[in-house]
Amino acid sequence: MKTVEDRKAAALAFEARFAADHFSQHGVTRQSLYSLLERYHQAFDAMGDVRLPTPAGSLAPPACSKGCAYCCRTIIVVTAPEVFYLADHIGRSRLPAAHAELAAHVRATDQVTRGKPGDRRWSSGPSCPLLDEADQACSVYPARPIACRGVLSSSLEGCKAAFANRASDPRFAGARPFLFQNSEVFLRAMAIALAAAGHPLHRLELNAALVAVWSVDNPMDRWLRGEDIFKDARAPGASAPIS
Ligand code: SF4
Ligand code: SF4
Repeated sequence: MKTVEDRKAAALAFEARFAADHFSQHGVTRQSLYSLLERYHQAFDAMGDVRLPTPAGSLAPPACSKGCAYCCRTIIVVTAPEVFYLADHIGRSRLPAAHAELAAHVRATDQVTRGKPGDRRWSSGPSCPLLDEADQACSVYPARPIACRGVLSSSLEGCKAAFANRASDPRFAGARPFLFQNSEVFLRAMAIALAAAGHPLHRLELNAALVAVWSVDNPMDRWLRGEDIFKDARAPGASAPIS
């Protein structure tokens, strides 16, 4: 009988082959990177009927809903293509003044969060600067990172409890009520294919990575030419490329 690890390994092999064929056919361009990301986004959209283990040992649908954002208070790890996709979305969906206001908020938050690992982020905040505090909804929902899409919980109570005592990362609260390993399959598949094409991916911290993109002209062109514009935006403890 196949274990969860067997299924994850098979999914990774399939997705890595798919991504390699995709870049072989289309090259590594803005368009090919974004169309691969949108494939992953669609895969998460199709997970609406997933059933998750609950702390009580049964299975239940995700408890997640708009306006619930206890999970938006820890580190978000992203990759370069996701940051470009997100920055383009922010640029397209906001007037210049609103864009400048959000960018200033991200920069200010980065001053606080830079270099802090997930447990310190969870214990002392602050919230993700892309969270709309008024309605506790993600302000970049259509372009949110894969890591955010991959966090689903069967237990709102588990998330509330983790947030109330701030003792542990909410993803590890209760008896495994969270599902987030699918995000790792997609990120690693994309990274394996891009490394083979000469574009190794690193794990980046969201705020620092957005600041990096907004600090140079033509950031994606530079990255595609091999310039490491994210060298100061690595996630804590993640200096090696994703493999
Ligand atoms: S993971 Fe938890 S905190 Fe996040 S949306 Fe789902 S139920 Fe809410
Ligand atoms: S990007 Fe959106 S979903 Fe992800 S942590 Fe920030 S506010 Fe939450």
